[in-house]
Amino acid sequence: MQHRLRNALSLIDHYPKIGAHLRLNDGLTQVLQEVIALQLPVFQFFVARTVDKKTVYITPTAQDKALLRTMVTQQGTLPFIHASYWINPASFRDDAYAISKSLLKKEIRLAQELEVPMIVLHPGTANGLEPDLDPAQVRRQGIERLASFLNEVLAKNKITVLLENTAHGRNAIGSDLQDFHKVKALLDEPEKVQFCLDTAHAFAYGYDVADFDSFFTMFKETVGIESLRLIHLNDVEGSRGNKQDKHTLPGEGQLGLPLIKKIAHFNDFLTIPKIIELPASPIETIQQVISTLTSKDV
Ligand SMILES: [Zn+2]
Repeated sequence: MQHRLRNALSLIDHYPKIGAHLRLNDGLTQVLQEVIALQLPVFQFFVARTVDKKTVYITPTAQDKALLRTMVTQQGTLPFIHASYWINPASFRDDAYAISKSLLKKEIRLAQELEVPMIVLHPGTANGLEPDLDPAQVRRQGIERLASFLNEVLAKNKITVLLENTAHGRNAIGSDLQDFHKVKALLDEPEKVQFCLDTAHAFAYGYDVADFDSFFTMFKETVGIESLRLIHLNDVEGSRGNKQDKHTLPGEGQLGLPLIKKIAHFNDFLTIPKIIELPASPIETIQQVISTLTSKDV
């Protein structure tokens, strides 16, 4: 009994696992070196970046793959890929929809090559529909469009997509937490689509995250804890409901450090990995923010 209790306590010692989104400035090798330098238990990265207005995908080397595998198997590091922002899986513009599908398929192939099991995806915007449609119809059609996109790209692979709630209003799908299960109900393999909660986006969309107990109750009833795989623990500029997506350093935004730390250490979220997505910052700042958030001191 004592042995089991000791095991449980040492497990708690390893949480919360808080890491960061790392920019691809000089490619994947540099991202992996930063993960090691910062000793991150969890990290997130894009697989493409823009160079001279052109999209350039990473080409992982054998050393990159071996290093990442060692980090995962020996240190228990948790890697997440964030799909490129220009992918719009709810678009009704046929060319954009087709390009988005081929890009996400490419990103899924890269994730499989790197043995990264989960990709975070923004649910997109239902643009290109008749302008006189009412908002409820736009949302319903956008949800169907997103579901058929996911059914196609997730067929025949083992990747899990984490749909992330976004900040936007008009025609955006998935900013309303109610959309999540509506999408899942239309999927061939619903278990392959789970959820990533972004605290900044929820606040900017209009959810009162600051009244955390009520927010959590609502979250349990709409999304459910069992679907939650990742938290983007971001602070945000601007007033609640302004639909603007402007991340700040934790403590410099509307949510504030005490609330961000409360969510970081919240018992029901304790084992959920957490990522901070900072404005471009030096590595020392990332390190300092993570140690502030990870520390149990208030
Ligand atoms: Zn995101």
